[in-house]
Amino acid sequence: MQRRQFLRQAGATLAVASTAGLAACASQPVAPVPRSRSASLAPIRASVDRITGVYVCTRPFRAAGPRIELEKRGNKIVVHNYGHGGSGWSLSWGSGALALQMVQGTGARELGVIGCGAIGLTTALLAQRAGLQVRIYAKALPPDVFSMRASGLWTPDSRICDAAHAPALADRWETMTRLSYARYQSLLGLAGTPIEWIDGYSLSDAPFGKFHGEVPDEPEYGDFSDRVRDLTPRPVELAPGEHPFPEPYVRRYTTLMFNISSYANYLMSEFLAAGGKIQVREFSHADELQGLPEHTLVNATGYGARALFNDDSVIPVRGQTARLIPQPEVTYGLRARDFSVVPRSDGIMVQVIGDTGNYNNPDITPHREASEAAVRELAGLVAQMKRD
Ligand SMILES: Cc1cc2nc3c(=O)[nH]c(=O)nc-3n(C[C@H](O)[C@H](O)[C@H](O)COP(=O)(O)OP(=O)(O)OC[C@H]3O[C@@H](n4cnc5c(N)ncnc54)[C@H](O)[C@@H]3O)c2cc1C
Repeated sequence: MQRRQFLRQAGATLAVASTAGLAACASQPVAPVPRSRSASLAPIRASVDRITGVYVCTRPFRAAGPRIELEKRGNKIVVHNYGHGGSGWSLSWGSGALALQMVQGTGARELGVIGCGAIGLTTALLAQRAGLQVRIYAKALPPDVFSMRASGLWTPDSRICDAAHAPALADRWETMTRLSYARYQSLLGLAGTPIEWIDGYSLSDAPFGKFHGEVPDEPEYGDFSDRVRDLTPRPVELAPGEHPFPEPYVRRYTTLMFNISSYANYLMSEFLAAGGKIQVREFSHADELQGLPEHTLVNATGYGARALFNDDSVIPVRGQTARLIPQPEVTYGLRARDFSVVPRSDGIMVQVIGDTGNYNNPDITPHREASEAAVRELAGLVAQMKRD
């Protein structure tokens, strides 16, 4: 609302300025209209007493990329759909579409989906829309699944494979990315704003190079950004007078954001409204799947696939976020060296980034002191932001 107000005000200011400019232009040179530095950037109230929760989850990383593959197991057909690293929300629709193609190849009319995170829910919805009857089986449902702990940005190639496997994954990745992107455009403008476009600012004390947030004790990851350059606007470098930040190098980016609480609620509601069934159930061994009534199953258990299917190729990459009390007036994201900020409607997410010790680390105990340090650093930045 405040953002709209600002845009209206900005529009009015520009209109006034240009009328004045027209009147003046016959007699004198027109001075450039000064660009507001910070009018749209409401200050984030960053203080540790506004932290409402600290959350940890393990990205289900596979060096070769997600496993989307059909396997015959006993009397069942299992279509695997897991291992999406730091890109599960972003790739979910495209990955689900590939899994669904395999399901449809079996001629199944009834489908069991194991897992109710980003991947399970979207695959289940796609299957319903293709006319299948779907039942989800999961040991936990939103909000108690790892997917709910993600930061919520369009990051389709975040920790999605390692550099060595990138060439083999590239075409499939691009297909998934483009399918997902198209689907997300159809989810804009819905009640509760599950999906929206936001602007954000990358801040740096050195010129931007080809740095992608590498972490010293993690592998070199696949980088596919060049393949989908046409999908999102290019980042814009801002001159010092065009932004309120103390850092000398600032880039504005524009990206999709997932308001995960509202988005997961949308996915669950759509699934149930279309007659979907959900059974809360934990499987301790893959053989237990043989007893399910559906002949065809999708395995969307994320990191859980490592234990359930004995798949050691799924590596946990730990990540931690803190959530601050929501501020609807804060509509921009930030990316600094040690933290990033995502201005979601269910809370301002402050993610610790660039830290070591996360690769192959299954420990989901929150380290509150690390999140408090990130929030304090953010507070320091806010205090230095120039105000008009
Ligand atoms: C800090 C952090 C930030 C992230 N930010 C982003 C982001 O901004 N954008 C993005 O696209 N991605 C992001 N990700 C990655 C994203 O969160 C994951 O890729 C995604 O959540 C994986 O979804 P999933 O459905 O495969 O797994 P999950 O959400 O873990 O769901 C698995 C489901 O399977 C069920 N299950 C598991 N084992 C069993 C079992 N044995 N029996 C029965 N049920 C079982 C679970 O209960 C759950 O329902 C982030 C990850 C982290 C850690």
